[in-house]
Amino acid sequence: MKLILASNNKNKLREFREILEPMGYEVLSQSEAGADIEAEENGTTFAENAYIKAKAIYDILGLPVISDDSGLVVDALDGAPGIYSARYAEEGKRCARVLSEMEGVPDEKRTARFVCSICYIDARGEKHICEGTCEGKIGYEKRGTNGFGYDPIFMYGESSFAEISAEEKNRVSHRSAALQRFKELIENS
Ligand code: IMP
Repeated sequence: MKLILASNNKNKLREFREILEPMGYEVLSQSEAGADIEAEENGTTFAENAYIKAKAIYDILGLPVISDDSGLVVDALDGAPGIYSARYAEEGKRCARVLSEMEGVPDEKRTARFVCSICYIDARGEKHICEGTCEGKIGYEKRGTNGFGYDPIFMYGESSFAEISAEEKNRVSHRSAALQRFKELIENS
């Protein structure tokens, strides 16, 4: 089955493919599918923003679409960067901003989670939301070179998400948890 991912983010695309291709899906980015637009993400939750992105592409193509709105939620920062994760600072400076805001925060208060909200709009135009989270802690420095975004400061046990392999991340990540729910949804529909 072909699925269009309402995104051109190459890291998300890679992770969707790594997780969905073994399940038998072919994942196309929105530009590969011929829909090159960027919807304004003006929702107030991950789920709302995921729906906005998926709906914009569904309205153009009329084909099954899947989207991902995700981000890092830090308890000591009252949930920031949250839905603003992609806009928290310019590219390459986002981890540094979180680290500086977390200066002086003791270990037990550094709890955080990645959240992923997936919106699937099926061939009939019905919307389904699948969410996944992954609990961890904010580290004290950037560690590792794998992954993307906030992975170098997100500690999952003793390692950051940027120190573990793609396979390990895909076993436990917020995105794979949400995709697991998506898989269950598809299998039961
Ligand atoms: P979105 O494209 O509006 O959903 O932005 C999500 C942002 O959250 C990304 O640009 C990353 O900064 C961050 N993010 C989401 N998922 C991950 C992840 O798996 N690792 C690291 N950062 C992530």
